[in-house]
Amino acid sequence: VSSASSGDRLESRSETIEDRYATDDVSHHFWGNLAAGRLVLPRCRRCRLFFFFPRRWCPNCWSDDIEWVTSPGTGTVFACSDVHLAFQGLTQAELPITVALIDLDEGVRLPGRLEASGGGIRIGDRVKLRFAPEPMFDLPRFVAHD
Ligand SMILES: [Zn+2]
Repeated sequence: VSSASSGDRLESRSETIEDRYATDDVSHHFWGNLAAGRLVLPRCRRCRLFFFFPRRWCPNCWSDDIEWVTSPGTGTVFACSDVHLAFQGLTQAELPITVALIDLDEGVRLPGRLEASGGGIRIGDRVKLRFAPEPMFDLPRFVAHD
């Protein structure tokens, strides 16, 4: 029982996200494209709904006719929080980081990291995806955007 929750997380940088999801026939589209510098989102061909996280069926109409659509990665900060505790292989020198939930313009909410420059980024600000230096180890990163 105790290993069930910890087994869902990446324990260190020795295990990449690709390792974890390579055999997952749903999530590998998302992570594989992210590693190649593309953000793709699942969309239902039947009712046209974008959704996230990736699933085998549309959460609206239950169709399994799902397509993957490239997103420009623009959106608005829904929530953000500074993290001062090292986890998932982060070192103390890398802290603090800012994690956030981004409402993408397609209407889905995506977890990511904020890269604040200067005055920082606040809830409600417009942001755009900037790919992480090591996308297979990291959450998508967002920077300020007009
Ligand atoms: Zn649907």
